[in-house]
Amino acid sequence: MTCRSNESLSKLVEEARPYAASGRVADYIPALGRAEKDDLSVAIFDIGNECYYAGDYKKKFTLQSISKVLALALALSDRGFDYVFSHVGMEPTGDPFNSISKLETSVPSKPLNPMINAGALAVTHMINGRDNKEKIDRIIRFVSSFLDGAPVTCNWETAQSEMETADLNRALCYFMKQHGIIEGDVEDLLRVYTAQCAIEMNCFDLARVGAVLALNGVDPETGKQIIAENVARICKTFMVTCGMYNASGEFAIKIGIPAKSGVSGGIMGAVPGRYGIGIFGPSLDEKGNSIAGMKILEMLAREQQLSIF
Ligand code: GLU
Repeated sequence: MTCRSNESLSKLVEEARPYAASGRVADYIPALGRAEKDDLSVAIFDIGNECYYAGDYKKKFTLQSISKVLALALALSDRGFDYVFSHVGMEPTGDPFNSISKLETSVPSKPLNPMINAGALAVTHMINGRDNKEKIDRIIRFVSSFLDGAPVTCNWETAQSEMETADLNRALCYFMKQHGIIEGDVEDLLRVYTAQCAIEMNCFDLARVGAVLALNGVDPETGKQIIAENVARICKTFMVTCGMYNASGEFAIKIGIPAKSGVSGGIMGAVPGRYGIGIFGPSLDEKGNSIAGMKILEMLAREQQLSIF
């Protein structure tokens, strides 16, 4: 499908762009620190089979935490509901995404949900595959299935950059290994996880992935069932309760759509039965969400009454 430039969407982008000035790009992963702060693009994949964009919609960015939704979908398909949720919880947390504190205090020790780093690492650990390469290949192929088989790439430089600075994630892994939530080599798990986070796409592709979720796992163009309806439902529920870090409650009130953001500045939205939304704006607020991206969603939600509540 071709995506067309849209004038009213471009106006929203220009209205939202100045907000980026008050944020910062993530630089704890050094490769992300090179992003242009006021980049802003958006694509909307209408389930009725139209697509609109504004801004530089072909610019690629890495998924980072957005990949956690897809990894969860794959782990659920590989291992089933009971296995996955015996290792990771379903409850939101008011803590930052990389916090270790709740791991220590929850009994039995189990990450609170699959959208925080500890939970996401545990989920990636569950993905089937004989070795790192097979696991990474399976994740990439799985993501590509949301794009009707279009090639999906991983930004290896960003993955390596994260490997070099992932000590907090290492700490989470060692803690979980000690408590029997994961087993095996921590560096291996981090290699798969950082590759998964470094999968890159543009906001049009991201909108298409969101559209599959919005349509309960069905590809809006081909009609193919990409993931089970129940898996899509679980993913969207986590997007609502934990998708926007510890701003998920405020986001649900102000915007009210299933969405997942990543520290690269991406946001994927899935408006049930209507739209998949892909946004890229790398300037982040203190909780790690794209400032201008949230502004666009806020304006869109108001204009088009997108809230599911
Ligand atoms: N790869 C990043 C990390 O683990 C993802 C974090 C995010 O996007 O929230 O720190």
